[in-house]
Amino acid sequence: MSADRIDHNTAQTYSKSALELMDELGVVSHPDNFQIFFTYVAGTNVDLVRTIDILRSNNRALDEEKCQEIFTKFFNDKRENEIIERISNDLRVQLGSILDTIHKVGIDTGKYSKALDHFCSYVGDKNRDLSNLEQALHTLLGATREMEGVNRILESQLTNSSSEIDRLREDMENLKREALTDGLTGIANRKAFDLQLRDDMMHCMEDGQPLCLLLLDIDHFKKFNDTYGHQIGDQVIRLMASSLKCNIKGQDTAARYGGEEFAIILPRTTLDQAVHFAEHLRQYIESHKVVTKSGKTMIGKVTASIGAAQFRPGEPVAKLVNRADKALYFAKEHGRNQVASEQQIADDGRPRKNIAMVNYQTKGAAE
Ligand code: GH3
Ligand code: MG
Ligand code: MG
Repeated sequence: MSADRIDHNTAQTYSKSALELMDELGVVSHPDNFQIFFTYVAGTNVDLVRTIDILRSNNRALDEEKCQEIFTKFFNDKRENEIIERISNDLRVQLGSILDTIHKVGIDTGKYSKALDHFCSYVGDKNRDLSNLEQALHTLLGATREMEGVNRILESQLTNSSSEIDRLREDMENLKREALTDGLTGIANRKAFDLQLRDDMMHCMEDGQPLCLLLLDIDHFKKFNDTYGHQIGDQVIRLMASSLKCNIKGQDTAARYGGEEFAIILPRTTLDQAVHFAEHLRQYIESHKVVTKSGKTMIGKVTASIGAAQFRPGEPVAKLVNRADKALYFAKEHGRNQVASEQQIADDGRPRKNIAMVNYQTKGAAE
């Protein structure tokens, strides 16, 4: 069901349409532009579709500069890199002034030098990212605070520096939160989901507990958008996210997987329990009437289909996701608004004959 797991024929159709459209619009056919237009024709990123539609309807040229801008906005972590760069530079300035003061005072700086070395090696590292920046900041702040008590002359300089480093750390925390949060719904985004699932799979292997994954997709959402418009569509996606959030608990994670698809990670949960929870969630979604924020538009029932799979210790992430996705596809194929589990499907994707549907086809079952 997800955009990145479309079948061969669909992919070919999208590729062909993307190339034709690029040709028609005079867009240079290189990989970045192809990614933009493939995503556009597949319709998997509504914001991108909207952006290009607006440009096209205004007869704006999709020249190289504009395409580059679109690519950066939708496919690059450029903003994140820019902020990391700014924080690193601010820190470099702080370091320079601390080192200056230390030189003037001429005291022994053994432990502090180590922290500075650590930081300098980080600053020079081309592969720096948020987690090693966080570690470098943590070490530097600890050492700076320790030094504060050592020499009175240094005291005020270091107090200033540590509050500045504190401020930078706060900036970084905000950036980290932003990088892992879905802008529309405020729940975990795909990147956060990937990290969390890896983490939970590791823990599951360590403590021998089961772990399950649910993939949920809103039914007939395209029709819904066509009827009520994208803005109300967005509100429904937000509402779906809050339904998920208020039904999970403890160590569970609900994430927006992409478009109108969501994922729920259920640590310490067997497949039977996961299917039971999914059915409860499906009924919860089905039973809540949707009204827009203004209360003016009565939308009525929104339903979702859910696929469930259990982690097999040692397997790669993609295999687990793939089985949950196949189960979701199965639920869609068999009428939507229902839960399906991987146990209903053989490895070739066909329904298992020897599994009684009633075990897992829980639609309509008493709670
Ligand atoms: P199915 O029951 O098979 O899932 O049908 P569907 O119409 O839900 O699925 P399809 O994949 O054909 O269409 C999904 C639609 O979801 C297409 C796209 O316009 C819409 N969509 C995806 N992301 C967003 C979003 O962020 N906001 C809004 N409003 N619509 C979105
Ligand atoms: Mg979908
Ligand atoms: Mg859908």
